[in-house]
Amino acid sequence: MNFCSDGLQALEPYIPGEQPQVADLVKLNTNENPYGPSPQVIAAIAQAAQQGLQLYPDPLSLRLRQAIAQHHASAGIDAAQVFVGNGSDEVLGHAFRALFVRPGRKLLMPDISYSFYKVYCQLHGIEMQQVPLREDWRIAVEDYLAIDPASCAGVVLANPNAPTGMALPLQDIERLAAHFTQSAVLIDEAYVDFGAQSAVQLVARYPNLLVVHTLSKSWALAGLRVGFAMAQAPLIEALVRVKDSFNSYPLGRLAQVGAQAALQDWAYYRDCTARIVATRQALAQALQQRGFEVLPSCANFLFVRHRQHAGAQLYAGLRERQVLVRHFDKPRLGEHLRISIGTPEQSQALLAALDALL
Ligand code: PMP
Repeated sequence: MNFCSDGLQALEPYIPGEQPQVADLVKLNTNENPYGPSPQVIAAIAQAAQQGLQLYPDPLSLRLRQAIAQHHASAGIDAAQVFVGNGSDEVLGHAFRALFVRPGRKLLMPDISYSFYKVYCQLHGIEMQQVPLREDWRIAVEDYLAIDPASCAGVVLANPNAPTGMALPLQDIERLAAHFTQSAVLIDEAYVDFGAQSAVQLVARYPNLLVVHTLSKSWALAGLRVGFAMAQAPLIEALVRVKDSFNSYPLGRLAQVGAQAALQDWAYYRDCTARIVATRQALAQALQQRGFEVLPSCANFLFVRHRQHAGAQLYAGLRERQVLVRHFDKPRLGEHLRISIGTPEQSQALLAALDALL
């Protein structure tokens, strides 16, 4: 007996395989931050753990939303323009349900992009129109502007894109927001802090723009599960409506307190992010010297292909040497490795393993 919808049957979970619970791996496969969160986060969580865990958390996460608004004050964001969730994956899930279920219309997204977008479409029966990247891996905004906005349920794209790491300039995001005025344009900025321009500053001018951030990458809090969206209040209210009908308490006390403390230690975050960008530049160069083609990355990972060696073999050889990266094999685009940026020591371990393989 099959009780699932066809869309659900077609889904394959990928995350468990990417998170082996084994020590001593050089783990460069899911774009985590190697430095860990600010010490102030640990202190705030320890203190909160001693007080009040028997009580439900603030269902509105008001203090955290205020801290996020404060962090984005230069873009004019206030707490009513912030929605928080259990990682940006959950925020994206709410956004897809609230904004993109529009029968007869298609959601536009790049091919390739973050794989979860397709999953959410399958889960919710959202029709999608995948717009291929250009030969040089670019998202060409002209290709989207040529599409009749009346046929679209909205647009979703990651900027920088995943897994390429390439970023769009702000003018291109603005052109999208100005073209698709009757539907939501969702910009997933999970990696924006590593070198791209944030569209948050456009929110005040475009009521259809929703910008999604995460604390999992530049803030080193993947384990805490905190993500958020910023938009004008009517879009945020649509997400809140979905949230309230699922789970009114998306964030636990420790997550709220820890995330708030992170956002208040901007200096630590800036330092950490700068170190990752410097390591990325050094690693890109070292990989190029070893015969890899490396796409220009604005993220905390590199998307690479070796000129002679097959990606699958390199992936398996690295795995045997306790170095974990991601392997992508796409029909049109060929085999690639996506390598997260770790510490300089982790780069050295990766390069030593590659030197043994090449
Ligand atoms: N968006 C993109 C583009 C990502 O790569 C990821 C991480 N895999 C996410 C969103 C989700 O991150 P999180 O749920 O940890 O916030």
